[in-house]
Amino acid sequence: MFENLSERLERSFKLLKGQGKITEINVAETLKDVRRALLDADVNYKVAKQFTDTVKTKALGRDVLNAVKPNEMMVKIVHDELTELMGGETAQINVQGQPAVILMSGLQGSGKTTFSGKLARKLKSEKAKRPLLVACDVYRPAAIDQLKVLGEQIEVPVYTEEGNRNPVEIASNAIQYARQNHFDLVIVDTAGRLAVDEEMMDEIEAIKKAVKPQETLFVVDAMTGQDAVNTAKEFNDRLDFDGVVLTKLDGDTRGGAALSIRTVVTKPIKFVGTGEKLDALDYFHPARMADRILG
Ligand code: GDP
Repeated sequence: MFENLSERLERSFKLLKGQGKITEINVAETLKDVRRALLDADVNYKVAKQFTDTVKTKALGRDVLNAVKPNEMMVKIVHDELTELMGGETAQINVQGQPAVILMSGLQGSGKTTFSGKLARKLKSEKAKRPLLVACDVYRPAAIDQLKVLGEQIEVPVYTEEGNRNPVEIASNAIQYARQNHFDLVIVDTAGRLAVDEEMMDEIEAIKKAVKPQETLFVVDAMTGQDAVNTAKEFNDRLDFDGVVLTKLDGDTRGGAALSIRTVVTKPIKFVGTGEKLDALDYFHPARMADRILG
């Protein structure tokens, strides 16, 4: 869909070579190309600008002007810097605790319920955990049914309280239930709204206070681009979450939201969702995401 960034850089440096020695102005021009590629990949404008400024300093510091293959050097600097900005290493998830509690947050439709099921499945098989899923969406009965269906598919029990309209109580009771029944992992799925609203934020904040999770994860649809960044910021301001889950990366997004979110909220991205099926879940690998953003 997009011209690959390395191809773009090669093209601009080829043009430059015809003019003799590469100058700082030539580098600036090339960085404009980098910025354009980032914007095409849905990276937030401010983040893209800040990024290319850093790359410029690094490139000049490493004497790209006199490099034998300046385009290759630039591509490497851009790739390394992207990887670094997205956290460098793959982030871990904290599942220590008796039980460990993981709280989901995010807008409706972002993929919270699906991710809750995927995560339960993953931690059950990879870390031999005994998970309990908790349905806290008291507004949409369909959401509770959806979690029950997922639970059946992965053979993980789902805690519900029909008739109880208080999600804080349900979550607290679920943890007590987990303790009594020897579950060592509790995944709390919460209600989402179509847009951030005060009531929703108050509710999830109260759940967080009550259950004291090891991990509060913010789930966001990678396809929503710039909006994803704003939503992430609003949730982080209220919840101070521990990590981000980027869903729907199987779509045709280049994933620039990953870089923008990471830079704006400075919280690690921990997982990526890559499909509707329950095994379509991966840990987040910054270097791979850098490849994807660069195309
Ligand atoms: P919730 O409202 O936040 O709980 O969102 P859901 O878990 O119900 O997901 C909303 C829709 O997105 C559903 O149709 C899911 O199948 C779909 N979905 C969730 N994660 C992914 C993903 O990684 N890739 C794709 N393609 N679809 C996903």
